[in-house]
Amino acid sequence: MFENISVLGSTGSIGRQTLDVVRRFPGRLKVVGLSAGRNIELLAKQVIEFQPEYVHIGAAELHAEVRHALEGWEGTLLFGDEGLERLAAEAPAELVLVATVGFTGLAPTLAAIAAGRHIALANKEVLVCAGELVMAEARRRERLVLPIDSEHNALFQCLACGPVSSLRRIILTCSGGSFRNKSREQIDAAGAEETLRHPTWSMGSKITVDSATLMNKGFEVIEAHHLFGIGADRIEVVIHPQSTIHSMVEYVDGSMIAQLGVTDMRLPIQNILTYPERLETDLRPLSLSALGRLDFEEPDLEKFPCLGMAYEAMKAGGSLPCVLNAANEVAVEAHLSGRITCGKISRVIRSVLDMANHSPVPDLATLRIVDAEARSAARIVVRELE
Ligand code: MG
Repeated sequence: MFENISVLGSTGSIGRQTLDVVRRFPGRLKVVGLSAGRNIELLAKQVIEFQPEYVHIGAAELHAEVRHALEGWEGTLLFGDEGLERLAAEAPAELVLVATVGFTGLAPTLAAIAAGRHIALANKEVLVCAGELVMAEARRRERLVLPIDSEHNALFQCLACGPVSSLRRIILTCSGGSFRNKSREQIDAAGAEETLRHPTWSMGSKITVDSATLMNKGFEVIEAHHLFGIGADRIEVVIHPQSTIHSMVEYVDGSMIAQLGVTDMRLPIQNILTYPERLETDLRPLSLSALGRLDFEEPDLEKFPCLGMAYEAMKAGGSLPCVLNAANEVAVEAHLSGRITCGKISRVIRSVLDMANHSPVPDLATLRIVDAEARSAARIVVRELE
């Protein structure tokens, strides 16, 4: 079990649930660093409760308000992008839980590894954009990158049954998102309100949109490829509407191992925070008889082109997954603000991927440029489609 942790993105959905888990183990888990984007009110409550040594807020323009809200707390207060990297590196945590959203999580993750900290990763875009870079750095420094994402946490648990070298394939399960039973035309026309109605998981808005387009699953295929060192041709996706099996592995002898559980992120979070121990949770037990059945179906790549584009970007490798992510971030933001319908998200990404240059082995500086260029390209396409 880890003792001292930092939480990047502490006011978001995963951050709040992480602190729920920490509350269950008073005296055993200590929060030494907390970081939020701009939700000062909640961050201040968390700081008063957990008394971390380091606090970071993304929005530097809010510094006066933050200082006021944290009056009486004595510690190091940091701001902006650089401040987040400093918190990740300097707060004396063994484990840094990265629950930020998007490309912004990459630099602090690398800074934390460089400072000798293990990573609990909830921000999948970090591995999508820079999987090779991050995993190579972690190997070099002998640091762990432990998965919080429910599917990868399931795989991590399944892999206790045998070595990765004996795997035949990985099967990632997918709820199907908000549009599983909708037609291509309905998805094309859908506004953000419909996209945000996820059937089984309660999550942040960005990941809920990604789940509806299946881009989330595409990202998870890339994430699994980097975390476990498995080729794209051996990672499959199956639609499983009950979200009860969180993912499966199949070994070369034909044995398939699955991890099942309730749909509550506190389960994978606790699994990592207490790793390698297994401790009780207060989650309701899974009732198989109440559930009755488990269903599986093939994903429809015609209806959900984002999944196919993610496989395409992963196979091309290099900087292309970073382009995929940047275009998606811009398109999702445009969708959430009502500028484009859900169906247009994949069209934005398609256009940007077709225009992109390919650099084979990107470092952080190159990725920053790739990310910025892909974002401007995506903004232009969004404007054309509005
Ligand atoms: Mg997931």
